[in-house]
Amino acid sequence: MITIALSKGRIFEETLPLLAAAGITPLEDPESSRKLILPTNRSDVRLIIVRASDVPTYVQYGAADLGVAGKDVLDEHGGAGLYQPLDLNIARCRMMVAVHDDFDYASAVRQGARLRVATKYVQTAREHFAGKGVHVDLIKLYGSMELAPLVGLSDAIVDLVSSGNTLKANHLKAVEHIADISSRLVVNQAALKLKLDAIQPMLDAFAGAVK
Ligand code: ATP
Ligand code: MG
Repeated sequence: MITIALSKGRIFEETLPLLAAAGITPLEDPESSRKLILPTNRSDVRLIIVRASDVPTYVQYGAADLGVAGKDVLDEHGGAGLYQPLDLNIARCRMMVAVHDDFDYASAVRQGARLRVATKYVQTAREHFAGKGVHVDLIKLYGSMELAPLVGLSDAIVDLVSSGNTLKANHLKAVEHIADISSRLVVNQAALKLKLDAIQPMLDAFAGAVK
């Protein structure tokens, strides 16, 4: 049995064509099904539906053989125990620093002010600001980072941006680009060796289907 960990929403939707290229079709839709283990047309392949940030953990411990996770999530996780053979080029966005429209970020940084930064991506933010020599107090949030500067919780946020519409709607502006983000295939290192005959054709099919 090959177990593939996916998260609901954009990653599931954008992974479907790649699965199809490997001859794998889910028999249920995670949006309407309450099942967390979804069978596929192949009796030797099943999908598990987990929180996006939990995908690396399931694969690291071998509870799933393969998974699809954003680079944002993988950078926070650290990647231990994971083989990352393929950038799937899906769920593309950018990791950015953003502040309120009125906030003069450049002079705050120039003056060496201590910045309060709210984010779900604490590791990424810590590394980014350490690399610039900017002192920060990091405030861990689990969602809706855009709210933090509006109510005085932080000076800045580190968050994913795609269209920029959410920033605009909340009077925020992006001031720094940290990284381009896309989703990667992750494979359990032991499973790759033990189940190579089943996994290698899937890797080849995914690689052939990546745009
Ligand atoms: P949860 O909603 O359970 O807290 P999440 O917000 O990380 O988790 P999604 O919103 O489904 O889950 O995002 C999954 C992945 O898709 C992210 O890890 C990121 O790589 C990517 N992603 C997030 N936001 C966007 C976006 N606006 N555009 C494109 N890709 C995105
Ligand atoms: Mg989300």
